[in-house]
Amino acid sequence: MRLRNVTGSREVIAESSYVIHEPQTRKGKWHEIFGNNHPIRIEIGMGKGRFIMDLARMNPDINYVGIEKYSSVLIRGIQKMEADPLPNLYFIRMDAEEITSIFDKGEVDRIYLNFSDPWPKDRHAKRRLPSREFLQRYNEILVPDGVIEFKTDNHDLFQFALEELEPAGWHLDRMTEDLHHDTEMMQGNVMTEYEERFSSLGNPIYKYIISR
Ligand code: SAM
Repeated sequence: MRLRNVTGSREVIAESSYVIHEPQTRKGKWHEIFGNNHPIRIEIGMGKGRFIMDLARMNPDINYVGIEKYSSVLIRGIQKMEADPLPNLYFIRMDAEEITSIFDKGEVDRIYLNFSDPWPKDRHAKRRLPSREFLQRYNEILVPDGVIEFKTDNHDLFQFALEELEPAGWHLDRMTEDLHHDTEMMQGNVMTEYEERFSSLGNPIYKYIISR
């Protein structure tokens, strides 16, 4: 994502009640934050938040947490929440590398990765969100029957993600190399900002659903 520095975004985030501040202190206490025992689903790299906000609006009995590394991007999600607040959604500004210090074992019911940064250089492979290093982190926080759903238009990243499954001990449940022409997998699909952009250019969208 191309980043422009948005003046004052750090300050707005620091003041926002839609953001969980010092999230390490909330490990194991996420159901208290939401005030119910509904499942908790997270999107890592939520960008401006369109996908997770649409999901939260459609599914009031599921709790959502959107994670984004950059203030200048997260601020857009906060502005949308101010216009249309959702009680079942919170945001965190953090690098997902620290995800296991935020959520306890089995605290998360599902993880969404959408159009994750490709990090094309081999030496940066560990930074890719579907890498085996990240899969190990997800393994620690997901419920035993929890799934990860990953979408991208990047062929190389998708191939890499598929190759990471076996060494990391994950199982491929479903996949498609052209989501928008796959009637079954397209059912209930919620578009992300990047998905709209790239599919309108005619790029095929890859998707997998995996479990342990
Ligand atoms: N998911 C959105 C979509 O599909 O429209 C945004 C996609 S954008 C290409 C990837 C986003 O992931 C960026 O906003 C980036 O800052 C965020 N991101 C990348 N690595 C991250 C990490 N390690 N932790 C948290 N966010 C990350």
